Amino acid sequence: MNKQLLDRLISLRQVLHKYPEVSGQEAQTAKRIKKFIADYQPDEIIENIGTYGLAFIFDSKNEGPVTVFRSELDALPIEEINNFTWKSVVPETSHKCGHDGHMVMIAGLADYLYHNPPKRGKVILMYQPEEETGTGALKMLQDEKFTQLNPDYVFALHNLPNVPLGEIRCRDDVFAAASVGMIIRLKGKTSHAAQPEKGKSPAGAMAEIIQMLEALVRETELSDFALITPVFARLGEKAFGTTPGYAEVMATIRSYRNPDLDKLKKSARKKAEMIAETYGLSFDFEWVEEFSASINQKEAVEMIKVSAIENGLNYHHLTTPNRWSEDFGYFLEKYPGAIFGLGAGMDMPELHNPDYDFPEDLIPHGVHIFQSIIKQINQ
Ligand SMILES: [Zn+2]
Ligand SMILES: [Zn+2]
Repeated sequence: MNKQLLDRLISLRQVLHKYPEVSGQEAQTAKRIKKFIADYQPDEIIENIGTYGLAFIFDSKNEGPVTVFRSELDALPIEEINNFTWKSVVPETSHKCGHDGHMVMIAGLADYLYHNPPKRGKVILMYQPEEETGTGALKMLQDEKFTQLNPDYVFALHNLPNVPLGEIRCRDDVFAAASVGMIIRLKGKTSHAAQPEKGKSPAGAMAEIIQMLEALVRETELSDFALITPVFARLGEKAFGTTPGYAEVMATIRSYRNPDLDKLKKSARKKAEMIAETYGLSFDFEWVEEFSASINQKEAVEMIKVSAIENGLNYHHLTTPNRWSEDFGYFLEKYPGAIFGLGAGMDMPELHNPDYDFPEDLIPHGVHIFQSIIKQINQ
């Protein structure tokens, strides 16, 4: 990559990092990306897909496959503790998942496509909002402005801290797990702590529900790995004089297979409701932050492998899927394609740590892998 382009990408990355926006508020970030890529004269720019989603279309004007490369736009509600010049100026908000880096790697492709336009079909650079909350991909997929593009392939990457810089990690079939958050609310009746029999405490039900959730994976017939992690529980108030009248339990369910997630969701809900009923409590239930499993297509994974070799990067075939989730899974449910992990280097903070920062040495590797994929499909 020539130094001039790399310098442009690095300064864009630092601006994006300095002015981060959390899920659902990516308006300025989208504007900055649009301004940068517009210089490379894409044939068409589509804005406001879903919410702030963007698509930049480089069209060969010939028949051929439509290839989409996707980046995320959002930052996280985490206070940055770094002290470099591009430190986030927005309180309690920073790019701690490296989406600022992902954005500029996709932007780097605009320069490549300006100098090397596709010969067949179209190449689309796509930016999606709200990845961290698992809501952005679905919003884009519900928008005709996106679905009318009819992608033949969709590709994305995620940087992986503490994996050697530039190492590609991928596998076909399941790449990342499906997951969903559950919130259970139990309502009874408070009473004086001296007379618990005059109220209706949810304490026993709450304890039973947590134990039920921890045992549920063992007790359910599933086709592959699954896990339920209770993440939060609350009972009553900090008051020695009062028997509690309210409890809340939150847990994350994850599984490698979408049907297994559905099965666990159904039985978790049913069993929790039965426990609440036994204790005579009112019951309220909510699903949040649902992610579909990311399932990679074999042919697309093969192209990633060829690209890794072409660029002299180490390709590591994963034997087991990642336990975390990615909302790119929703795109992969509808279109063939693949997502892969890109090693971000050793001895660095993990994703979502307050001292994480996307390593700029990684920018050329990401751009080059995607370029090789374009060569295989559209040139
Ligand atoms: Zn991320
Ligand atoms: Zn993240």
